[in-house]
Amino acid sequence: PKSWQTVPLAPPDSIFKLTTAYKNDTFDKKVNLGVGAYRDDNNKPWVLPVVKEAKRILLSDETLDHEYLPITGLPEFTSSAAKLIFGPGSPVLAEGRVSSVQTISGTGANHLGALFLSRFYQWGSAEKKVWLSNPTWANHYAIFRNVGIAPVEYAYYDPKTIGLDFAGFVGALENAPERSVFLLHACAHNPTGVDPTPEQWATVADVMLKKNHYAFLDCAYQGFASGDLDKDAWAVRFFVEKGVALLVCQSFAKNAGLYGERVGALHIVSTSKETADKVKSQLSVLQRSEISNPPTHGARIVSMILNNASMFEMWKRDIETMAGRIIAMRKELFRLLTVELHTPGNWHHIVEQIGMFSFTGISPEQSKALTDEAHVYLTGNGRISMAGLNTGNIRYFAESLDRVVR
Ligand code: PLP
Repeated sequence: PKSWQTVPLAPPDSIFKLTTAYKNDTFDKKVNLGVGAYRDDNNKPWVLPVVKEAKRILLSDETLDHEYLPITGLPEFTSSAAKLIFGPGSPVLAEGRVSSVQTISGTGANHLGALFLSRFYQWGSAEKKVWLSNPTWANHYAIFRNVGIAPVEYAYYDPKTIGLDFAGFVGALENAPERSVFLLHACAHNPTGVDPTPEQWATVADVMLKKNHYAFLDCAYQGFASGDLDKDAWAVRFFVEKGVALLVCQSFAKNAGLYGERVGALHIVSTSKETADKVKSQLSVLQRSEISNPPTHGARIVSMILNNASMFEMWKRDIETMAGRIIAMRKELFRLLTVELHTPGNWHHIVEQIGMFSFTGISPEQSKALTDEAHVYLTGNGRISMAGLNTGNIRYFAESLDRVVR
């Protein structure tokens, strides 16, 4: 056909749609709890002080040019990013068993990981499938479908407890065919904010090993969850130590506030250095046809922070600032609902959940009422971004929430 008249109109992305609706709203107390990006207490995007410092140094460095990076990215970025997630003393790094590639942030890491699995995972005669938590980051569905891997769901969130459906989760791991691919959120599960405990992770790892499953670990919030980079890497490091077959998708969007710079990495762990070299060679071939080579600026910023002891300390403090503010908002929201407003229902999950998001447990109707009546923008599933709350709007939000659940 010479024209595109037959192309169906696609619906707008729901999160971006929410942001537009918020922007167009003229009500002075409007609140945006949709977007998954950090805001400071004045509701402004925050350029981390350590990032400002890195940019200042880069700008004054006359030796830096705009040549292409290698296909697999800036070597000092990928190697230090690998140390950050696996731990500096990790045996898999010492043994050269990790193939690391710089990607277009976490989304690009998910895509390249999915593409690699689609080509090289030993699917046998089975249909290509990936198990996703119900619910998960909506983009996971599209990313896997794009490369011909069918998403199927495993039980994860239990609306009755507003917590983890651990029995359902383990049941899915037990009942899936051997060598299934399970996508797991390494920390700060999006959208629920519900993570397994260390004991529960240990059970998950045991069942994965027993069933020979593959762990596709998506780590978009290291440091952002607890405020501590090592603590948030615990599940990844534990799985590596146990010998679960895995890859890790890493994003610096949230923990370095580099959203639009698209800084990330994919790390695939193999059983030998020889295998890891082969894996890396194929990742390089895939990357070449997709983006040729990744962008320089953000990778230089992160690399400088990771490879300079004093800047690394400064970054840790910046991360604590962000995570600390979010945790403080959780506590304050919980206090307002329970102590001040005596809002009906149990709100413990607000302080128990972790990371940027909280699943409030309210219904789609109540979510809609919050938007229609109080100008509070959130996704229909009742997820709120804690980063959208601040000392100026939290009382208004708590009172609005109180009103819609009564
Ligand atoms: N994975 C999860 C679970 C996420 O929540 C996100 C961001 O929202 C990403 C991956 C990727 O984000 P980015 O591509 O901005 O790094």
